[in-house]
Amino acid sequence: MERGNSLRSISLSTGISRATLRDWREHPEIKVNPHAVCARCAASPTLPEPQTDYAYLFGLYLGDGCISLAGARDKKMWKLRIACADAWPGLREECARAMSTVRPASKVRTQQHPGCIEVVSCSRHWPCLFPQHGPGRKHMRKIELQPWQRAIVMAHPGHFARGLFHSDGYRGINRVRARLVHGDQWYEYPRYLFTNESGDILRLCGEALDQLGVVWRFSRRNAISVARREAVARLDEFVGPKY
Ligand SMILES: [Zn+2]
Repeated sequence: MERGNSLRSISLSTGISRATLRDWREHPEIKVNPHAVCARCAASPTLPEPQTDYAYLFGLYLGDGCISLAGARDKKMWKLRIACADAWPGLREECARAMSTVRPASKVRTQQHPGCIEVVSCSRHWPCLFPQHGPGRKHMRKIELQPWQRAIVMAHPGHFARGLFHSDGYRGINRVRARLVHGDQWYEYPRYLFTNESGDILRLCGEALDQLGVVWRFSRRNAISVARREAVARLDEFVGPKY
């Protein structure tokens, strides 16, 4: 503003609304939060920071998140909601932390539902950060990464996989029976499952696992299984039990 740029051009290059800019001009005593600016709709877009938290949050979003209009009155305010099962309190905190580091200007709140808590944050910029949002269920539409999202996921496949497994995944004990001459013997071993109806999201999960050197296979049409001992140990370095 001091340089004489118009509110319109500042608004276009920062993503900050003209009303807010006018507010700041009239009330210079208001402290401007630098984090309110969005990395993606800036004039020269950069990668959202911290990238590790973005990768994790992106995994959570693809698994069990949704973006919708926050209210009828404001058509530019969006709500990111991620469902966290009650059984995993640690997941809720980690999800809330990632949401608030990626959009520090937006307050994170929680909403209790039967069997799960939703972690919610409202921002105008969730659609910039997660351009995969759209009408209908995720598995009914094509999920394609933008080149900049691919760069983050490739740089931080462990955080991305952690988000995917925390939302739509499972780490449990598999019991298998071996029929031996002297009777049956049971073996127990930990394994991971990632279940999702979207072929695109399953493919993204598979690519992240490949990059981490984790051997996986499809155990069903809609489920990826990681069961080999070394593969489970490797994935434990990035995911582990949910909390
Ligand atoms: Zn934006």
